[in-house]
Amino acid sequence: MTILLSTLNARYTHASLGLRYLLANMGELRSRTILQEFVIGARASDIVERLLAHKPRIVGFGVYIWNVEETTRVVALLKRVAPEVVVVLGGPEVSYEPEQQEIVKLADYLVTGWGDVTFPALCRQILHGPKPLMKIHAGVQRPLDDVTMPYDLYTDEDIAHRTLYVEASRGCPFKCEFCLSSLDKTAWPFDIDAFLAQMDALHARGARLFKFVDRTFNLNVKVSLKIMQFFLDKLAAHPDDPVYAHFEVVPDHLPEALRESILKFPPGTLQFEVGIQSFNPEVQTLVSRRQNNEKAAENIRWLCEHTHAHLHVDLIAGLPGEDVESFARGFDRLVALGPHEIQFGILKRLRGTPIIRHTEEYKLVFDPYPPYSILATDRIDFAEMQQLVRFARYWDLVANSGRFGNTLPVLLGASPFANFMRLSNWLYKTTDATNRIALEKLATLVTQWLVLQGMDSTAARELVRSDYAGQAGARKAEVKEERKAAPQEALSSLTRRQARHMVA
Ligand code: SF4
Repeated sequence: MTILLSTLNARYTHASLGLRYLLANMGELRSRTILQEFVIGARASDIVERLLAHKPRIVGFGVYIWNVEETTRVVALLKRVAPEVVVVLGGPEVSYEPEQQEIVKLADYLVTGWGDVTFPALCRQILHGPKPLMKIHAGVQRPLDDVTMPYDLYTDEDIAHRTLYVEASRGCPFKCEFCLSSLDKTAWPFDIDAFLAQMDALHARGARLFKFVDRTFNLNVKVSLKIMQFFLDKLAAHPDDPVYAHFEVVPDHLPEALRESILKFPPGTLQFEVGIQSFNPEVQTLVSRRQNNEKAAENIRWLCEHTHAHLHVDLIAGLPGEDVESFARGFDRLVALGPHEIQFGILKRLRGTPIIRHTEEYKLVFDPYPPYSILATDRIDFAEMQQLVRFARYWDLVANSGRFGNTLPVLLGASPFANFMRLSNWLYKTTDATNRIALEKLATLVTQWLVLQGMDSTAARELVRSDYAGQAGARKAEVKEERKAAPQEALSSLTRRQARHMVA
């Protein structure tokens, strides 16, 4: 009698940390539990066929914002062809407002919140009785010291080809209303020495890319320093085979000791994801986000100017109280600080988040279908929001891709938001497309745009060529490699960050 743990990942490279936690905590059921991951875009019938090949008694699905629609089809099909298989759901997408969801109606049981303890307990009841009386089971939050860490479940193939997600803590003490973590009461740390021992074992097995999913890595500076020292020691011991660590940080908290540690990281070894979300104090107050803007700006500038850390900074458009002009001011302020990437996100109404309390007053209109993006507010109408959505996509192609490093400052000039919006509107009018624009075509379009703005055509061609020379071939090779590593990978516009619980 097999128990299957399954989910549809957004990409092949995203190994599911949540499923591995469940497997690691199955206790005596672990030997009969199998993990089977899929990638969105796969046919539901093929997924069901592969699941049933294991003759499962129970199938547990991890349901997230990016896979809820496809998982609903999978569950519907599974229950039609094999109604005797017990379906248990879990994951952030079904943990809130479950009564409204089709997938919950189709399933037998639902575990909301943390599943480490409750999922195995529910499986025991299903297998050995007595039959669980309730359909919905609230996940028990055991102290993290009692939760088995799952890192030995990353296979050699995971280590070689996929992003390894790790967490030194769970939860967040802040209350930003657009974010699911705002429902946590606090942040809970894992035992740091036990955690680092697991990281050491992963490193010894060849892991070199560690992506921390901790909501606020730099809150507890003592622990942050210990983790950073772990990576510095690895870098010192293996300078020719360096590790790369990715952390999410709050921007206004960078004490001197942390700065000193960050300064020691050589190029290409450290990435920070920094949530600014909005520089508008009124908006911050409305969504209960506590942030010292001056301190945050100073820290971002310092990181850009003095360290080798790669900086990816998030902004959100469509928050209550924000209009296009105030968003533009925040965007320009951020561009001036010089981060390597700006993730321009559109607000999403994640199930369970308190942002809905502003719906009436600020006339927030959200798409009823995942990922529940905002369509209009009292200050940004639908047409303007569409322009912002396209701006975000073109920004990814032109700016975040890093392919137009020399050209970008010329495109942005003294008014980055306004100038890029003009380019974005023109690109859309000219191509009628916001994705799948080949690099060659994009380079030609950018050159045309520069000429339209009055630049001499030879100078424009040379400027774009200085970025573009040799990149087309390199990109083709890159794509070929990606395909090889991810044969089933479906392209998804959702970032992993969105996927976990953010709106960006
Ligand atoms: S946005 Fe960041 S700081 Fe705010 S609640 Fe979410 S995880 Fe915490």
